[in-house]
Amino acid sequence: MTSAGPDVDIEDILLADRLRLEDLVDRDGLRELCATFHALFGISVRIYSSEGTLLADAGSEQELCAYVNGATQGRLACASTVGAVKEQDPGPNGDVVHPCFTGAIYRILALEYDARRVGRLIIGPFLPTNVASAPASLLAIDPAIAQERAQALLLKMPRAKPETVTRIAAHLKASLDLILFSGHKAHVTSKMHLASVREGYRQLEERNVRLQEAFDRLRELDRLKSNFLATVSHELRTPLTSIIGYSEMLSEGLTGDLTAEQKDFVKTIHDKGEQLLSLIMGLLDLGKLESGTMRMQMRQVRIGAVFDEVVSTLTPTARKKGVVLRLDTPNGLAELRGDPERLRQVFLNLVENGIKFTPPDGSITLQARMVEDDSMNSDMDGVSLLAPSRSRLEVRVMDTGIGIPLGEREKVFDAFYQVDSSSTREYGGTGLGLSIVKRLVEGHGGKIHVEDNAPNGTVFVVSFPRAAPNGVEAT
Ligand code: ADP
Repeated sequence: MTSAGPDVDIEDILLADRLRLEDLVDRDGLRELCATFHALFGISVRIYSSEGTLLADAGSEQELCAYVNGATQGRLACASTVGAVKEQDPGPNGDVVHPCFTGAIYRILALEYDARRVGRLIIGPFLPTNVASAPASLLAIDPAIAQERAQALLLKMPRAKPETVTRIAAHLKASLDLILFSGHKAHVTSKMHLASVREGYRQLEERNVRLQEAFDRLRELDRLKSNFLATVSHELRTPLTSIIGYSEMLSEGLTGDLTAEQKDFVKTIHDKGEQLLSLIMGLLDLGKLESGTMRMQMRQVRIGAVFDEVVSTLTPTARKKGVVLRLDTPNGLAELRGDPERLRQVFLNLVENGIKFTPPDGSITLQARMVEDDSMNSDMDGVSLLAPSRSRLEVRVMDTGIGIPLGEREKVFDAFYQVDSSSTREYGGTGLGLSIVKRLVEGHGGKIHVEDNAPNGTVFVVSFPRAAPNGVEAT
């Protein structure tokens, strides 16, 4: 069998083994073709498939046939003739004559396409031109048949010379050939189209499988990476705590006085140790958030107090940098159900970033508002505000700093992602803060995104979902 691809079978497309008339030609078209020939020559025309199914039939019952059918023996003889005509196989490219006891005849011709049998064409009954009177076979078939009546009806039968019928048959076959050709062409075209679509689909499926495998491998690698980070971080934390503790003791003079230079060195050890510890804590947090093992101490939180604390903690840092840190919150902010320590971590991180990425003389504003709308899903049930329904808490951390380009605003929430990742980058950091912030906000049922702070700077918008009706926390 010829094959153009795993699923494309040329033999199948060309219908090489099973070319069927009924698959290639529309039945209405066939009927119309037969009707035209019947209208032109007055002789009945029938087309059968190679399996013997009648596909088209044009012609009306001859009066003589109806008369003969009215007599019991006549009906039986008629049925047997018609049955024999139907069954007759003309052979390859054949053309045979089948006589009827009435004196009429049938012509049975093989229909072929592309050197293959596709059906039969039956023309008749009609009277050969040499039959002038009712034959004895007709009168003998049934005593109820009257000679005079039979003779009169016989003369009403269509007459045709054999060569005329041969010409009719040739025309019919030629027309049929044309119809078959265009039918076959349309069939092959549509099959080819289907085959190419199927092949395209198969290739897509194959690619999908490969993609899925690659995705699974990456996910496994990601899991291994998380495990590795968690283990290493954990193991680093213990000795680091000792380093920080001992450097603290040294600088407090527990082992005797230090020279100014020694104090300086010990302070550097302590500060770098703290820096390293916060990185390790960040990695541990991320690991727990990724694996879903982070435990939140959920309780009712006065969010205003959290903001006050964040601002007072970071005001010295802001001052040192020469930027202004403002708190803009209304009185009586709703209470929030959440983990106060983690909420503090979120806003400390965002404000710290604001200070870090804002040049001197700029400003950072921590603004909070209750917003009336239902744009957040009520099914976000991590945290809820003890506030009227259809309201949510929207916190905006706005700075006038270097801003985040539009294309980077989603990516900054990826772990270790930094807009400037060059070795010469101006700002310190690890790229972990925002990925932890995002997960913590989502862990509280909230959302976070970045906006522009025109003309320059960034706004981080954090929203927490509305409370249940009547201000009672949702569970
Ligand atoms: P880090 O600050 O340690 O680099 P983060 O996860 O907190 O990591 O931030 C990721 C990146 O997002 C930063 O490196 C910086 O490029 C960008 N970014 C975060 N906050 C701001 C901000 N307020 N203004 C401009 N860029 C910011």
